[in-house]
Amino acid sequence: MANKIFIGVGHGGADPGARANGLVEKDVNLAVALAMRDVLVRHGVAVRMSRTTDKDDTVQQEVAECNAYQPDYAVEVHSNAGGGTGFEAYTYPGSARAVALARNIERQVMALGQTSRGVKQTSRFYWLRKTTAPAVLCEGFFLDGADHQKFRTPEQQQALGTAYARGVLQTLGIAWQQDAPAAEKRYATVDELPADLRPAIQALVDSGALRGVGGSRGLDLTYDMARMLVVSKRYTDIEAATMRPAAQPPDQ
Ligand SMILES: [Zn+2]
Repeated sequence: MANKIFIGVGHGGADPGARANGLVEKDVNLAVALAMRDVLVRHGVAVRMSRTTDKDDTVQQEVAECNAYQPDYAVEVHSNAGGGTGFEAYTYPGSARAVALARNIERQVMALGQTSRGVKQTSRFYWLRKTTAPAVLCEGFFLDGADHQKFRTPEQQQALGTAYARGVLQTLGIAWQQDAPAAEKRYATVDELPADLRPAIQALVDSGALRGVGGSRGLDLTYDMARMLVVSKRYTDIEAATMRPAAQPPDQ
């Protein structure tokens, strides 16, 4: 059975959370959480988020939804404010599994160059008190601290979410997989090909030796396929040019 992760996205809708330096916490939290979800889903993990858009989403609703989902782990995404710098994570006192997850996330966040204020145990957060799964509450950085410079762009916030996901994957024992490489470019027509390959490929098309596969895929050649055809045609041309016209079948 697939691993299940619940991601609580702090604040939302009428509750913006903290605000500083042009950053609004509810938006930052959502960007980080969406990136985290995408990485986990890519690795075959089932994920439910408390919200995927900017809408009202109280912590009571989050906890109810999380407990109904019965995930293996629950992560609540927040951003800090109030003076300071650095990541910090909270767990409910006595939950060794939650601490292990928090430490793995912390390590991945620090690999981004972010400092950490540590993994702390507290019973003061409703989220940690009421969630039945091992739960971690992450404060990625301070919106009003110098470290907001590290996480102000969408790319930087995506990197933070990826770090959270890596910490979860490590905890679940799932190996990290790079993104699948982008599909190799395929050329549909002679005109799309690099100029040096065009004459030979055009000649092959004109002779009828090379035909397209039809439809919008046309010739459907990769660069390597086109080069091989060019070399092969050159070889055939050389052979034809050196073939003696006098070459006759041997005497019968
Ligand atoms: Zn918050």
